[in-house]
Amino acid sequence: MKYIFGPVSSKRLGQSLGVDLLPPKSCTWNCVYCQLGKTKKFITERQEFFPREEILEEIQEAITANSSLDWITFVGSGETMLYKGIGWLIGEVKKFTTTPVAVITNGSLLYLPEVRKELLSADAVLPSLNAGSEALHRQIDRPAAGLTFRQHVEGLVAFRREYKGRLWIEVMLLGGINDSDEALHELAAVLKEIDPDMVHLVLPTRPAPEQEVHLPSEERIEQAIAILSEVTTVVHPVKGTMDLRSAPDMLQAVTAIVSRHPVQQRELEKAIVDCFPGESDKVSSVMQDMLATGMFKLVDHDGDPYWVFNTEPD
Ligand code: SF4
Repeated sequence: MKYIFGPVSSKRLGQSLGVDLLPPKSCTWNCVYCQLGKTKKFITERQEFFPREEILEEIQEAITANSSLDWITFVGSGETMLYKGIGWLIGEVKKFTTTPVAVITNGSLLYLPEVRKELLSADAVLPSLNAGSEALHRQIDRPAAGLTFRQHVEGLVAFRREYKGRLWIEVMLLGGINDSDEALHELAAVLKEIDPDMVHLVLPTRPAPEQEVHLPSEERIEQAIAILSEVTTVVHPVKGTMDLRSAPDMLQAVTAIVSRHPVQQRELEKAIVDCFPGESDKVSSVMQDMLATGMFKLVDHDGDPYWVFNTEPD
């Protein structure tokens, strides 16, 4: 499948079927923590990158094959709202399934009324807000020229006013960057202005190919929860797990996931063990065979090996 990946399992969205609408990497930002590597060329013009009917057909097929989905999630190789026509897709998906639809976005285009309108029928929208000031926004998110922090916040405020679904803001907490008391108080003030239903505090648990980013200390995580909880509900989702049991082609399923974000080797191994109960000797040969394709490479992140997509195979 070209546009579908997963289902992957996460605490936030349970069993979630991923739909990627973008050619890699198409983004309005160049975040320091991005798992997809550097944004080589910013894209800020919205386009229908691939035919919407073709995407819809794949979603229909995947829903038919996976009966126990909790969410259908639009997310992918960059900024989801760059896909012009996502509103149509959400509407069509909702005609044939009652599974709720979520959209993960950096929120940078929400200042545009037509973008906000395309999101109105989603059941949950998860935009990013990593900073409470222009300076920190520039340092962390590194947006394309012309996109400002104030515009980002105003887009979120306007969207909150118009949107009746669940608005869950994602805050990436980076050790030594936005985890000081001052940065957290600035962030809390902006969150108060936006008034989301919830904040999901996330951590850089996966390697970022471009720049080393660090996990915040436990003390800083606790402090972030305490400060942000003064203005909204804060959840700190634990890491999700991968489930390959319903995948018709394991290599294809692993490629679809790893090409979108690095996967901890331990997590991958556990998912493969679950596919071969009682055949533990098979697991390492399956993993060796996958590595031998040259499509993946191993990188170290905080002492843990991760599988990342090899964009330059031998
Ligand atoms: S918004 Fe997402 S895809 Fe874009 S640079 Fe940031 S982390 Fe990467």
